[in-house]
Amino acid sequence: MPGFELFDEKERKEVAEVMETGVLMRYGFTGARAGRWKAREMEEAIRERAGTKHALLLADGTAALTTALAALGVGSGDEVVMPTFTFVASFESVMAAGATPILADVDDTLCLDPAAVRKVITPRTKVVMPVHMCGAAADMDALGKLCQERGLYLVEDACQAFGAKYKGKFVGSLGGVGCYSFDFNKIVTCGEGGAVVTNDDHIYKKADMYHDHGHDHSSDDRGAEGHPFPGYNYRISELHAAVGCAQISKLEDFVARQLRNKKPFKNALSEISQVVFRRLPDPQGDSGTFLSFFMPDEAIAGETARALKNAGLEGVFHWYDNNWHYVRNWTHFKERRFAHPVAASILEGMPDYSKADFSASDRWMSRCVSLSIKLGWEEKEAVAKAETAANAIKSLLSR
Ligand SMILES: *Cc1c(COP(=O)(O)O)cnc(C)c1O
Repeated sequence: MPGFELFDEKERKEVAEVMETGVLMRYGFTGARAGRWKAREMEEAIRERAGTKHALLLADGTAALTTALAALGVGSGDEVVMPTFTFVASFESVMAAGATPILADVDDTLCLDPAAVRKVITPRTKVVMPVHMCGAAADMDALGKLCQERGLYLVEDACQAFGAKYKGKFVGSLGGVGCYSFDFNKIVTCGEGGAVVTNDDHIYKKADMYHDHGHDHSSDDRGAEGHPFPGYNYRISELHAAVGCAQISKLEDFVARQLRNKKPFKNALSEISQVVFRRLPDPQGDSGTFLSFFMPDEAIAGETARALKNAGLEGVFHWYDNNWHYVRNWTHFKERRFAHPVAASILEGMPDYSKADFSASDRWMSRCVSLSIKLGWEEKEAVAKAETAANAIKSLLSR
C-alpha cells in the first residue's frame, strides 16, 4: 500500500484515452466520447470483485458514506454507531447526512467491539457502521447478528479494506450497503474516488440520483431528466476513473504482494514474546496493508514506533497519538468546534464527548503500533526490513 507505488504505463494509457476524446465527464456526451466510459468500466470491475449487484463510483469515500446513509433514508434524528478508531471521515459523513454520530469502543480487532455497540443502542439508532481498519475485517458475524436482532442497517466503511475478505466474501458486500475509498493513500487509487456497493435496487437507484443533483439518469439528455429529489454533486470525473480502471486490474497482484511482504514481518516479530498481534476475526481474508500489534504499555508502544522510524522504516503509526484516526485527539469534534452552526438535531442526542470515557479503547490503542506494508518492496527487501524491525524492538526491550 498505497497503489500509487506501482503506477506504470497502464494508468498513463487509460488517462490518455480519456484525453483523446476530451470528455472528462462521466455522463452524457455520448457521441463525442467514442465509446469510452471509464466510470462505468470501473463500476463493472468493482461489481465483479465485490460480488454485488450494484456499484456506484463517486468522488471520494466520504461522499460514498454520506450518499449511502442518504440512500437508506438516514438523517435528522437518527443515530449511527461508529468506532472510536477510524478516519475522521466516518463522523463527518454521518453529520453531512444530518444524523448523529454515536461512538462505541474498539477491541483487540481494532474494530467495533460488538458488546460496546450493544450498550449505546437507543430507540433512535438506525445504523451500525463498522470500519474495517488497516486492511482487515471487523467481527462481522457478531455485528451482523446484532443488527438483525435489533432491526438496524449494517453499513460497512470498507474504505481502508478494499480487497480484504471476510469468510470468503469481499468486505463491503456483507451488510446492506458498503463503501470504499480510492483516495491517494489507499491500496487502489483514483487520486480521489470512492464507491457504494449494494444488492438492493432501490438503495442503488437513490444513491445514483443523490450523488448527481437528483438526476434520474433516465435519458441521454441531461437537461430533460427528472429530479425526484435534490441531491449533491459527488460525481467522479472520467480522468480519475481512468486511473482507477488501471489500478483495480492490479488488485489481486497488490494483495498477493502485500501478503508476501507482510509474512517476514509477522515471522520476525513472533519471536518477541512481548509483541501481541492484532486479533483478526478472519485471518485468511486479510489484505495485508498493515501489520498491527500491541506492546506491553503506552510508553513502550511510543518508543517502539520511534525505534522503528529511526531504523529507517516508513509508515509506522502509534495511532493513540494520531490527530486523524483516534478519538483522543479529535478535539475539534469533541469540543464541538464547527465551521458553521450545525443543525441542532445532530447535537441534541450526542453525548458530551469532551467528557466521555473511552478507556476500553485506550487500553488497546495506547499499546498499538502499525507498520505499513509496501507494495514496492521486493521479497528480499521485505525480509531484510523485517529483520531490522525485529532487532530494533529487541534492542529497545533489552534496555
Ligand atoms: C480513507 C477513509 C475514508 C474516506 O475516504 P476519502 O476517499 O479520503 O474521502 C473513510 N473512512 C476510512 C476509514 C478511511 O480510511
